[in-house]
Amino acid sequence: MTAERLARAQAAAQQAGFDALLITPGADLRYLTGYQALPLERLTCLVLPATDDSRLLVPELERPAAEASLARAHGIEIVGWPETADPIALVADMLPKAGRVALDDHMWAEKVLRFRAAMPDAEQLLAGPVLRELRMRKSPKEVAALREAGVAIDRVHARMGEWLATGRTEREVRRDIGNAIVDEGHVRVDFVIVASGPNAASPHHEAAGRAIESGDPVVVDIGGTTEAGYCSDEARTYVVGEPADEFTVHYGALRQAQDAAVQHVRPGVTAESVDAVAREGLTAAGLGEYFVHRTGHGIGLETHEEPYIVAGNDRVLEPGMTFSVEPGFYLPGRYGARIEDIVVVSEDGVERLNVRPRELAILR
Ligand code: ZN
Ligand code: ZN
Ligand code: ZN
Repeated sequence: MTAERLARAQAAAQQAGFDALLITPGADLRYLTGYQALPLERLTCLVLPATDDSRLLVPELERPAAEASLARAHGIEIVGWPETADPIALVADMLPKAGRVALDDHMWAEKVLRFRAAMPDAEQLLAGPVLRELRMRKSPKEVAALREAGVAIDRVHARMGEWLATGRTEREVRRDIGNAIVDEGHVRVDFVIVASGPNAASPHHEAAGRAIESGDPVVVDIGGTTEAGYCSDEARTYVVGEPADEFTVHYGALRQAQDAAVQHVRPGVTAESVDAVAREGLTAAGLGEYFVHRTGHGIGLETHEEPYIVAGNDRVLEPGMTFSVEPGFYLPGRYGARIEDIVVVSEDGVERLNVRPRELAILR
């Protein structure tokens, strides 16, 4: 599988007129090679020439880890560099002096500048625009991995009644949820947002010492990474005790808006049109000005990646694209709510990868 990805990346590099891609540890490296390397001060770098074989330059001490990880990947030669060598110069020697070299979007600035100094006549560009075109279109196997992540995070939401109760602090709840994220099929907790009462008016409020009070809406937005490397991300809004009437009305509008936006998804529509549908629904309910973020983001080996579901993005959706649909409203000082599902564009429509109920979940 990685051989095929390498071949496609190479073809894309050629088409973009790049002489080589230089990929350092992160999601792009994992996508292309399966190697999950830590970003460190010592250089690890995949050198992917447009027309030649790929080489993975690693510190000599990382060679066993790289070899174990690449055992199944074909077509990559591992080159270890000894502790006293200059790995930047080693890479520069593999490349044409005045070439066009595309660097990993997430390469450390310190390494970018050293590459620039080592290759003064080369043109440096970003590899991201080329690689995102590949990563954005998920294979059936990737979709299956995201479906598995979706089911895993669904299982955590299904247990929310065990943890959300009046008198418990957001931090206490966050700890329980974090443990459950790992217990229910992830290898890593990526984030746990528990935002109760007025704290829910901040979309990215994490968790604080506030104790949940009766009648509080609580936004719970959680995600982790599975063994296969794919991410989950799902938000539901709960009410502990009796919800206020006005909140119930607002929540009903949000639910309809989220549903309409999901139903709008199919091949051929633009990313921004999905955002517009969600926004229209909330605007009609008088909540438009309180919907302060984009409707969604792509998801895969990273929680946030292309395509972004936002006004101004005229990207046409295609089968295999996966992203969140997560409208919300946030009334400062009062409360907030968000409903989020991960969806995949199918051949003729859309499939939700999160299937937990979306009606207001009242916990007593
Ligand atoms: Zn977010
Ligand atoms: Zn989320
Ligand atoms: Zn999200």
